[in-house]
Amino acid sequence: MKILVLNSGSSSQKACLYEIGETLPAQPADCLWQGTVEFGSESASLAVQNSKGASQKEEIQASSRADAVRRLLGTLTTGSAHTLASFSEIHAVGHRVVHGGPDFDEPVLVTPAVRKAISRAAELAPLHVREEVEGMELVQEMVGAVPQIAVFDTGFHRTIPPSAAVYPGPYKWFEQGIRRYGFHGINHQYCAGRAANMLDRNPASLKLVSCHLGNGCSVAAIDSGRSVDTSMGFTPLEGLMMGTRSGSVDPGILTYLMRQKNLSGGQLDDILNKKSGLLGISGVSGDMRKIESEIEKGNERARLAFDIFVHRLRSGIGSMVAVLGGIDALIFTAGIGEHSAKVRSGACGTVEILGIQIDPEKNRRPMGDADISHADSRVRVLVIHAQEDWAIATECWKLLRSKNATDHDMN
Ligand code: ADP
Repeated sequence: MKILVLNSGSSSQKACLYEIGETLPAQPADCLWQGTVEFGSESASLAVQNSKGASQKEEIQASSRADAVRRLLGTLTTGSAHTLASFSEIHAVGHRVVHGGPDFDEPVLVTPAVRKAISRAAELAPLHVREEVEGMELVQEMVGAVPQIAVFDTGFHRTIPPSAAVYPGPYKWFEQGIRRYGFHGINHQYCAGRAANMLDRNPASLKLVSCHLGNGCSVAAIDSGRSVDTSMGFTPLEGLMMGTRSGSVDPGILTYLMRQKNLSGGQLDDILNKKSGLLGISGVSGDMRKIESEIEKGNERARLAFDIFVHRLRSGIGSMVAVLGGIDALIFTAGIGEHSAKVRSGACGTVEILGIQIDPEKNRRPMGDADISHADSRVRVLVIHAQEDWAIATECWKLLRSKNATDHDMN
């Protein structure tokens, strides 16, 4: 079964083609083809490669985002890295949808009614969801009547109990759909399964804290394979400090800025999402690599940004352990989680009291998915490569298999 996965970010569109046979492999399969468009202010850069080593890179002048995505998908069948003779070889298309709103948690086959309902969730996460729905329309236009499946980043967190999901404002908020939804669920769920696999344990016997540290950052508490709490909330702005997002701040700061400095909702939105976090504090970058290199040069504000990031991460891990009432394994995943030994050692530096100890040598250079815990550590510490696209492809595979089985039974 050839499955195309579309994953849209705020400034990029990624796509990946997988092939999955009769049984799901225990390890993620390599992509047959993968491509990305990065959107700049005036042009976009397209980069594609396939499993035979062919690649294509070019700057493109696209009249719109949709036009650029059309060009990206076009390279599946034309150009130097083409992989398919025709789009009809694609069996299914999976979409990462950032927000399922109150209506959606499980992966769902996209019908016109479902697409409309997903668009309604755009009120909660306007930017991404609109682009994701646009991606579904583009696939219909280019690939035709292929099953399209929406997989929700909020879905894994549907099991968070009301005590953690309901905000202590007026109860009316909850009735209006204002609640903790949580994000990065596709990867937190994948990491929970992969951790059980790496530790050779039944997921039902594990208490896990998963730290997804990319441009966006969140921690999740996972008990017996189910999410029971997470740091992101109604929007992906709550919780840990991030690249350009503040994470949690005293809401009184916002009302102060509105009252005393006349800032509008739009201006606050812009500051909190784009001008805060590592970038806001350091003044140089929201990219952890740059922060670490600036620290080497003696940049004090980069040092402060790093220290706040680590402080908030420790406090996030500690609160998730308290919610779980214990911890068997701590997981680091996504760009910073996988690659920054300094962030991992900083985060684990003060949690030895919880039985978490990393091995400095293993931490320095983990190879692929790795156990970096010290031999004496009661808690395992794992580095797991984020595999959102693979997780989406496997969800599509499972949904289509069960649908085929049901259709077969009904016939
Ligand atoms: P996204 O959330 O957009 O998918 P990623 O998971 O790719 O992002 O994570 C991006 C973050 O990972 C950036 O802050 C980047 O600096 C950081 N990162 C990537 N490689 C390294 C590295 N070798 N050392 C430290 N940070 C890194």
